[in-house]
Amino acid sequence: MGKLYSFSINTPKEGFVNITSLARECLVDSGIRDGFLVVFVPHTTAAVTINENADPDVQTDLLLGLSKAFPADPAFRHAEGNSPAHLKASVVGSSVTVMIDKGALVLGTWQAIYFCEFDGPRTRKCYFKLA
Ligand code: ZN
Repeated sequence: MGKLYSFSINTPKEGFVNITSLARECLVDSGIRDGFLVVFVPHTTAAVTINENADPDVQTDLLLGLSKAFPADPAFRHAEGNSPAHLKASVVGSSVTVMIDKGALVLGTWQAIYFCEFDGPRTRKCYFKLA
């Protein structure tokens, strides 16, 4: 049921990539008028969130707040050394759901969907499932 779309996304060292237009492209292609969109990020140091699309300072502040909440700690045991990125990815989450109504994504005026990179730069994957 529904349709699965997969995209490659080139990410910065740490930061947000607005993927709302990709989601809208999938919606138009699918022809779905009423249903749900699930966005899923298949990574352990990246995530997806919905937040403000108007003032880019909000993205900067989100990253700053997350870095203050999850700083590097010599007590971390993970040998790869990127435990803060794992913590941020877990807290922000690997998926979001958006309602589809009358052929449009139900998002607030100031909302956009963001791919969140916490351990880049990398080429990442992002899935959109519409049903
Ligand atoms: Zn790791």
